[in-house]
Amino acid sequence: MSIRAQRRLAIAKKEVVGPLILPKFPHALSVAELLGQFRVSGAEGLSEAEVNARRKHFGANTIASRRSAGVLRLLVHQFRSPVVYLLSGAAGLAFYFGELEEGSAISAVLAINTLIGFVTELKAVRSIEALRALGTRTARVRREGRVHVIPAEELVPGDVVVLEAGDAVSADLRLIETSRLSADESSLTGESVAVDKQFEPVSADTRLGDRASMAFKGTAITRGTGAGVVVATGIVTELGRVTRLVLEADPGHSPLERKLERLSVQLVWATIAVAAIIGGIGLLSGKDPLLMIEAAIALAVAGIPEGLPIVATLALARGMWRMAQQNALIERLSAVETLGATTVVLTDKTGTLTENRMTVRRLCTPSGEIEFGTGAPEGGEGQQVAGDPQAAELLRIAVLCNDAHLDGSEERGSGDPMEIALLRAGLRAGFRRTTLLEGRGVVRKHAFDPVAKMMATVHEHGRGVLIAVKGAPEAVLAATTRVAVGNGEVALDDTMRAEWLSRADRLGHDGLRVLACATRIDQVADAAPYDRLVLAGLVGLEDPARADVPPAIQDCRQSGIRVVMVTGDHVVTAKSIGRAVGLGENVSNVMEGKNIRQMIETGQPALQDIGIFARVTPDEKLALVRTYQAAGEIVAMTGDGVNDAPALRQADIGVAMGLRGTDVAREAAAMILLDDAFPTIIRAIHEGRVIFANIRRFVAYLLSCNLSEVLAVGLAVSLALPLPLLPLQILYLNLVTDVFPAFALAMGEGEEGILKRPPRDPKEPILGRRQWITIVLHGAALTAGTFGALAASAWLALDARSTVTITFLTLAFAQLWHTFNMRDPRSPLFVNEVTRNGWLWGALLLCATLLAVPTYLPSAAHLLQLAPPSSEMWLIVIIFSVAPLIATQAVSAVFRWIARVR
Ligand code: ADP
Ligand code: MG
Repeated sequence: MSIRAQRRLAIAKKEVVGPLILPKFPHALSVAELLGQFRVSGAEGLSEAEVNARRKHFGANTIASRRSAGVLRLLVHQFRSPVVYLLSGAAGLAFYFGELEEGSAISAVLAINTLIGFVTELKAVRSIEALRALGTRTARVRREGRVHVIPAEELVPGDVVVLEAGDAVSADLRLIETSRLSADESSLTGESVAVDKQFEPVSADTRLGDRASMAFKGTAITRGTGAGVVVATGIVTELGRVTRLVLEADPGHSPLERKLERLSVQLVWATIAVAAIIGGIGLLSGKDPLLMIEAAIALAVAGIPEGLPIVATLALARGMWRMAQQNALIERLSAVETLGATTVVLTDKTGTLTENRMTVRRLCTPSGEIEFGTGAPEGGEGQQVAGDPQAAELLRIAVLCNDAHLDGSEERGSGDPMEIALLRAGLRAGFRRTTLLEGRGVVRKHAFDPVAKMMATVHEHGRGVLIAVKGAPEAVLAATTRVAVGNGEVALDDTMRAEWLSRADRLGHDGLRVLACATRIDQVADAAPYDRLVLAGLVGLEDPARADVPPAIQDCRQSGIRVVMVTGDHVVTAKSIGRAVGLGENVSNVMEGKNIRQMIETGQPALQDIGIFARVTPDEKLALVRTYQAAGEIVAMTGDGVNDAPALRQADIGVAMGLRGTDVAREAAAMILLDDAFPTIIRAIHEGRVIFANIRRFVAYLLSCNLSEVLAVGLAVSLALPLPLLPLQILYLNLVTDVFPAFALAMGEGEEGILKRPPRDPKEPILGRRQWITIVLHGAALTAGTFGALAASAWLALDARSTVTITFLTLAFAQLWHTFNMRDPRSPLFVNEVTRNGWLWGALLLCATLLAVPTYLPSAAHLLQLAPPSSEMWLIVIIFSVAPLIATQAVSAVFRWIARVR
């Protein structure tokens, strides 16, 4: 159904069907009116039955995107290539002039090739679609009184969606609750400044960008929390109105595919030129015009690598699929090739290098330190804390100033793992958040600010408010003026502050993540939170390093990729984790975020030596990425927060976290780690290298095969020899028997040592000088073999038909054996990437059959103008098809030997 038809249908539904009518100006309704019209309770949400009814009525919340590519469209796509036009034209002409056999032969080859292309592309496209489905967006909705996470496509009008910073808004919402909420609506309005949101109605004629009571599909929440009622889904949203085309689905063509396409076009022109020149010379020197035209056509067909685009698509799709199996989801096709060239990985610490399974280990208060959670029985800790009112107060603040939830049991929870750990510790000491909140309801929340490195909650407290703050120790201490001791407070002087900082350092030294907690009693809820605080103490949390990280970092070192930790955490904690994961000698070289600018300005980026950047803000991350890039590095960078989006976009490979990342970060990223784990990045880089090597391999393979055909025909014409290959035979080679080995090469798993080598130069083209030289040498060798077979046939005085059978089969088989030339020259002769590739053996078997069988089938032999070979003829074919392989391998061995000796 076209978009317009869908829209018409949606509008028709809105007007005619059902009692629920979508209001035209939801932004102008009051919250009560709105809830009434949508017949939903803001706190409870819809019932499942109601959701089902509305889904039937309104359909899925999609803008015709992610629609799978139609089978018919893919089939038609196969016919849209210049080569196909050319060949169809040729077949048409043949039929017109009554050359029925010629015409049907061309048509048959075309049909086979189209079928191969169609099946491959269908498979590739379907697997890419399956991958994209994995990346489906989700939304949090209140339904039947509980918060559910559902695919965004399943939202229906009336659903109550819960929002927080970092969320992508997945339907048009009329807000019913807001707390410091603001949204980036640039995708819709083009205005880049985030807009503040609130739930009061605005007048009906307010323009889109100013409808503060609404949040629109396709925009992103940048700050705060809130909730809203879905007032429009799918095509009737504001985004749906402005979207004409498929928004999300088409990944476009990767630079690599475009490069290959350009290469093909260049080859087409080059071939046409060569064909014209040779044909022209032949005609001028008075040769048979018909023969010359046939030769020119043969040349043109020979030069074009018809199979290239199909194989390239397959290689990329296969690579994406394999990466996904390793938990790396590729969002942009271009990432596949860039990954292989990565030189630096900037990784964050929490959750990527560490487990992100946090446990509270130590409580530091003015009265001393308590070891917490180390094997002590449940009640024991409660008592421990019970005997220490200051430690109890510290935990209480940590529980109050918290955004996470425990799911009934102590074990599972939702939210930031660090906050879950705090809740869990509180529970063990006997504080349940819900109980604590009784009579101390939250009146305001200041979400965690990665620049200030603090967060605050404001609670009812008698007539006034209690502000609970937690955050990075130096940040909290800078905003602290007093310390809670016993029943009173003492002023915090500079020496005491320094003392507290060194206590925090000590905790960090033990690898703990350190938080400071503080409070203030105030009169008004609006007061600035991070000011005149009263310190309660420090909490040390343990977050063990992931066991699989050290070997992955070892792999990186071997492959010349540098790993640099970029964390918001404290220097000492970062160092301790860095040591635990084996970050190497650079661990002691730590630079703090605030010094990054200075380093850039003084123009002496000592980047090579720095192993850790600590206390880094998102802005500084961006500057860091740019600095590395300016130094010529290809940067992969991880990020999870809203503020990381610019840095993720700037990086060559932005890597977002699938588990704890925000939608905004995911949208900015080129790759998503489904398991958040560092080793996955390295596996993806490995795959990226394999894919590039494979592409290089099959491109070189196809081009050397093509070149051998051009040389064979060209030389034969120039030397006035009989044509060793006829146009149809060349077509058969290029469109059928070359394609399968190329496929197989594209499916390769990569050489064993591929990670042990330095990254490839990103500027290096697919085919550099080296590759071209090899292509020419290999092409020449194949041609030489063919002429050898020609000479042998002449010596045996075979007839024309038998001769051309021999030369055709010789070149065809030589091209099959030629796949063994595609091993990395550094790999062993017999056990290597090519010989270990099972697909390749399958392809060789298939193609050998496809070559041998037609010679014995009278009709096929007739079409391809072959004669059934005698055993003598087979002997010639075998000898002269194997000879080029042996010769090229010998020559390359000699070259390598010379290189080593020199
Ligand atoms: P990381 O690189 O380890 O992910 P972050 O940027 O998330 O570091 O956090 C930096 C610092 O901010 C932490 O060391 C901690 O002190 C503080 N912090 C992090 N999350 C919170 C939070 N939810 N509430 C208060 N403080 C936090
Ligand atoms: Mg973090």
